[in-house]
Amino acid sequence: MISRMFARIESVEQSLLLAIASATLIIIGLLDFVSGAELASSVFYLLPVAIVGWRFHYRVSGMFALAATLIWVVVIIALGMPYSSAFAALWDGVSRFIVYFAFAVLLGHVRQALEQARKMAMTDHLTGVANARYFRDLAERELEHCRRYERPFTLAYIDIDDFKDVNDKIGHSGGDRVIHAVADALKTSVRRVDEVARQGGDEFMLFLHEVDVQQAESVLHQIHSRASNLLDLRGHNVTLSIGGVTWRVPPATLDEAIHSADRVMYEVKRGEKGKVLHRTVGENLAPRSEDPARTGSDLVSRGIDPSRA
Ligand code: GH3
Ligand code: MG
Repeated sequence: MISRMFARIESVEQSLLLAIASATLIIIGLLDFVSGAELASSVFYLLPVAIVGWRFHYRVSGMFALAATLIWVVVIIALGMPYSSAFAALWDGVSRFIVYFAFAVLLGHVRQALEQARKMAMTDHLTGVANARYFRDLAERELEHCRRYERPFTLAYIDIDDFKDVNDKIGHSGGDRVIHAVADALKTSVRRVDEVARQGGDEFMLFLHEVDVQQAESVLHQIHSRASNLLDLRGHNVTLSIGGVTWRVPPATLDEAIHSADRVMYEVKRGEKGKVLHRTVGENLAPRSEDPARTGSDLVSRGIDPSRA
């Protein structure tokens, strides 16, 4: 329930959230007054403080913690709480402020730490692009969307050519720099809507959003030529092989789509490296019970034998 509450807090706009927290604080103050001095209710003030602490900078949280303390003090005075001295009242107020503020700051740190952990779980540590796990989640969602709205689905596999030679020539850490440069070049070359991820080693995956069947091949060629030019400009003497598959009839599983793109990429490797090969599956809207990846008549191939895809 608490995690659902924090997820809800994430989705609300900041100004609205501040208004909700302020209204909650005032209502708690009123209830505190109505319930009288005997019933301890200062713990309830932590709720709006927690809401603000979770989403706002500690300066805002500090102001809000102060406001919560002042409302509590006003209620206590209105109820005629008998303090033996002004110092005792001040001490009570200050200690309450410290508790509220510390609670808000702590929650802010927890949120930051969770956010960082979430980013790390999605990111490839060497290149900073998405990792294979995140790519899978995203592609699963997209595949579902494509199934529901009958949209085409395009996935591509990219592999650096003769990368073992690069490692041999400039060492493993030099190879790492080349992998990083390729990731940068791909990230710069894809359209904003596309997703690039490192699958592992010298392999990357690409998901093309919002392309129809006709566009997919030219988008892949554009990405290939932009990325190759960037790598040339930056003095990295490597080429990329790309195998892409566009599914007019969505594949039964994501693995099927990934393996098909992988196989098409390996066709490039077996032929002339450094090229793009694109295929469309389900051109004739084959029945879904068939395995479209293996339906030769449905494959629009570029100079290769469809039965080998
Ligand atoms: P091909 O053109 O057929 O792709 O040949 P290749 O030499 O690139 O062969 P392949 O893609 O199979 O080999 C990839 C190599 O990448 C193998 C492995 O030693 C190296 N490698 C895998 N992960 C890393 C990494 O994180 N850093 C570095 N520097 N090298 C890696
Ligand atoms: Mg390779």
